[in-house]
Amino acid sequence: MAQRRTFLKQAGLLLGSAAILPHTVFACNRAAKKLGVCLVGLGNYSENLLAPALQLTKHCELRGIVTGSPEKIPIWQKRHGIPDKNVYSYETMNGIANNDDIDVMYIVLPTGLHAEYAIKAAETGKHVWCEKPMAKTVKECQSIIDACTKNKVKLAIGYRMQHEPNTQKVISWAKTKPYGQIQKIQAEIGFNIRNPADTWRMKKELGGGLLYDVGVYAINAMRYTTALEPISVLASYENTRPEVYKEVPETTIFDFQFPEGIQAHGRTTGRENINILRAACEQGWYELSPFQAYSGVQGSASDGVLLNTYIENQQARQMDDDALAILQDGPVLAPGENGMQDIALIEAIISSAETGRSVRIS
Ligand code: NDP
Repeated sequence: MAQRRTFLKQAGLLLGSAAILPHTVFACNRAAKKLGVCLVGLGNYSENLLAPALQLTKHCELRGIVTGSPEKIPIWQKRHGIPDKNVYSYETMNGIANNDDIDVMYIVLPTGLHAEYAIKAAETGKHVWCEKPMAKTVKECQSIIDACTKNKVKLAIGYRMQHEPNTQKVISWAKTKPYGQIQKIQAEIGFNIRNPADTWRMKKELGGGLLYDVGVYAINAMRYTTALEPISVLASYENTRPEVYKEVPETTIFDFQFPEGIQAHGRTTGRENINILRAACEQGWYELSPFQAYSGVQGSASDGVLLNTYIENQQARQMDDDALAILQDGPVLAPGENGMQDIALIEAIISSAETGRSVRIS
């Protein structure tokens, strides 16, 4: 029970449906003010997903940028109407403390840089949104949480799946158990990446590797599907292309033992297209496939129930939910503690894969 409450608390779900469905609950009580968002790091996710999504939000506006690439500045200024005074570099971003246009700093950098810049963001006194995975180590995650607490700002992790309605249905079933007690979980995510680009995602130092990048979705899914925290993990690596995957594993397999006798099989790989979350229960099963995608998350259950609610834009919904948490001073759906627990589990997976032994999770 304690473990279950821990997850629910971390996931911001203890307020029940108010936290699960903030759109509905707050619909009649929306604040008029829009929050000014500053994107920190203008790579693929910022450019192609978050910036367009910000245009669809009700409670946010893209007002600032932090970048280390001067050539990107005129393009972003023209496209999004960003004034000179709201353009910063990593060296000047502490000046945002005096910029009233900005309410939120959204860290969209390589994972290995999240902690350094999330802490700098918190020190400006602005709220912090930090992309997943939260950071490379538990120590770094804790330092982000501490900086946000010290500066009295909110911290939300960019776990967009927790804002997605089919996923929220699965999350709610952890409590209501419509198919009885969960016995087994399968959470696997991978892509057939023929020629992986030599970017930070292949570099250990920068928090690269599929385990951090997408394996974290499988780990988070095991936790939200059971609303429990695992007891132990046995993990292993497979690498069929050591000349390509020099620093990070190509495939990681992680089998968690959860309380109540639940076994959870996880895998993340650069060898195969796979994207499935499945719960086998005493009286049936349910699954989402894909369970992690920008759109088209869908699934079904053994009795024919369909999980196919469609939403326009996940990122817009996530940012509006997180903006409402700020405007209404409520809990965020995916707080730092939630992100940190996944990194603790990644550390346990790495330890198990490296030693070949089962690792107990404290
Ligand atoms: P990119 O490589 O496309 O962009 C990263 C950006 O970070 C760069 O363009 C650059 O921006 C900046 N940067 C600063 N220092 C470095 C450095 N040393 N090496 C490389 N880039 C640097 O990555 P993504 O946008 O795909 O990913 C960024 C973050 O977003 C990651 O944490 C990732 O896990 C997360 N993400 C989340 C997704 C989700 O669905 N929630 C989906 C995709 C990514 P600039 O030139 O402006 O300085």
